Amino acid sequence: PGPDDSAIVVRPRLTVVSGPSGVGKSSVLAEVRRMAPDLYFSVSATTRSPRPGEVDGTHYHFVDRDWFHRMIDSGEILEHAEYAGNHYGTPRAPVLAALEAGRPAVLEIELQGARLVREAMPEARLVMLMPPSWEVLVDRLTGRGTEDEAVVERRLQVAREELAAAEEFDHHVVNADVRQAAADLVNLMVGPAAPSTAP
Ligand code: 5GP
Repeated sequence: PGPDDSAIVVRPRLTVVSGPSGVGKSSVLAEVRRMAPDLYFSVSATTRSPRPGEVDGTHYHFVDRDWFHRMIDSGEILEHAEYAGNHYGTPRAPVLAALEAGRPAVLEIELQGARLVREAMPEARLVMLMPPSWEVLVDRLTGRGTEDEAVVERRLQVAREELAAAEEFDHHVVNADVRQAAADLVNLMVGPAAPSTAP
């Protein structure tokens, strides 16, 4: 609180959305995009190979390791982490440009990255998307069928760790229903500061 804290100042907000693999982040965020087209969605760089249907520059910037490390060295990356053997990072400039232009920005990143953003930008709001239950998450992860068993096992292990960190997040949104979860997220992203829903 400073001398201006009685004035109404609406600051564009940075929201970090994390959640274990299989929780439905992509479906929920696709719905958020439809509900709130003015939000800026960060496009990460990754060294992972594209999955069928993924478009370079839209879903990710698909880059090789050398390129990724050059981006880090030149300070172009806001946060980065390794996940299941691949590197992922958030390009800094587009996020800052969006916030400066008054657009709330959204980063969909994993736990280590969320922690780094919290340190770098303490005003960021951290939201964890939660499965209705662990069983639902296991079902979704085993049913995806695009990856082999070892990859699924690894992702379940990481999912366990991610859910164990839920209390570090400001808010929890349960994805029992995609539209409801998306509406809850939009409220957090553009609504007034509300009491934390995290325990
Ligand atoms: P996927 O390979 O399934 O697209 O993503 C794997 C994980 O990496 C997901 O948890 C996703 O949220 C996370 N991720 C995607 N982009 C970034 C990023 O720029 N930084 C970090 N730290 N994690 C990311």
